[in-house]
Amino acid sequence: MIDKILNLTNEYENDTVELRRKIHQNPELSHVEYQTSRLVAESLSKLDGNLELVGDTGILFTMEGGKAPEPGQKYKTVLLRADMDALPIEEQVESEFKSRNKGIMHACGHDVHTANLVAVARVMSRLRGEWSGIVKFLYQPGEERGAGARRMIEGGVLLDPDVDLALALHVMPMDKGLVHLNQGIITACSDGFTLTIRGKSAHSRKPQQGIDAINIAGHIIVALNSIQGRNLDPFSTATLSVGMVSGGNATNVIADMVQLKGIIRSLDGRSREVIRDQIAKISSGIAKAFGGECECVFKDGYPSVSNSKEAARIVGGLLKDSYNELVSDIDMDSPGETCLEGCVIQDAQPVMAAEDFGFISQRVESLYYKVGTGNYGPGHSPTFDVDERWIKFCTRTMVLACLKLMEVRE
Ligand SMILES: [Zn+2]
Ligand SMILES: [Zn+2]
Repeated sequence: MIDKILNLTNEYENDTVELRRKIHQNPELSHVEYQTSRLVAESLSKLDGNLELVGDTGILFTMEGGKAPEPGQKYKTVLLRADMDALPIEEQVESEFKSRNKGIMHACGHDVHTANLVAVARVMSRLRGEWSGIVKFLYQPGEERGAGARRMIEGGVLLDPDVDLALALHVMPMDKGLVHLNQGIITACSDGFTLTIRGKSAHSRKPQQGIDAINIAGHIIVALNSIQGRNLDPFSTATLSVGMVSGGNATNVIADMVQLKGIIRSLDGRSREVIRDQIAKISSGIAKAFGGECECVFKDGYPSVSNSKEAARIVGGLLKDSYNELVSDIDMDSPGETCLEGCVIQDAQPVMAAEDFGFISQRVESLYYKVGTGNYGPGHSPTFDVDERWIKFCTRTMVLACLKLMEVRE
């Protein structure tokens, strides 16, 4: 089977790179990925399957395997997900397919994810006679902003037929070919908060007549920084940052209102609860002590992505065993470019970044892994780039993982 996958990914390599470049050159922001969505639909139109538009730009393509399942075995339905949106960043990487849309860039690799998932669909379609089950290919809008995955779930992508397992990958500015595939929690849960502090305005020559909201805000910011050191279990992982402060209108007026906005990132539910609780207590207590008030509003962000232990074990083992074959014909700058042995790491640290695949992983057994496509600029930076020679490696790992996970397990 691996030989067939290698040959098919080679056959489609040029088309995949061409599609990736088209998407890269015409990046679109979250929830307005109209052109990208059209390109995907066009590319899938020649394949056997059912194409549905979900929301304005999401695409769900459902393909059924052509092999009859063994008697008594149950079909599996696997969802493969790619995100399609770009970021409000001005590209600095020079290439013939540099972004044509001013101030918008694929700086997180979602162009690669989209083109890769089209390649996976092409390969799975050619291999249809060899697998039984159902694969749902999901091209989702708005990962960077606006929780596109949640909208897709609301649009019914996990139902009818019900998804047994979801799979996604993310390209990363890491060594080429390096795979991170962990069990359990791998990304942070992120929640926003807004504190609105109200005091009383006064002329600065008579401060005793006012309640200084800026002074209260200063005390609150300092106190919030003690939550990590004094309220959390030292072995828990969480961050809390105030990223925006706004308030006051004149240098000679005691400000009557200040707004603080920030973000909490946590890897476990307990820390999340403690931080939210303490923010509310500390901010209202301090405001009250100074004679003011503080209103605290939390906004639930993306939940953590949690990988199925079993799926991570199975796919991790499979990729380790077949790694040398999967990279055998990939052009490398130097023979030692990739580390070959030990290139599939299963005990990498979780990251404090958020990823909206968390909404899917909350609902169904899931597996999300990262593939190194070169140490260029960091993700979300104007110098982010990928080595396109490794896209077919992404396709190979995903096809292989999907086929394996569709096998019925007891
Ligand atoms: Zn991103
Ligand atoms: Zn991303």
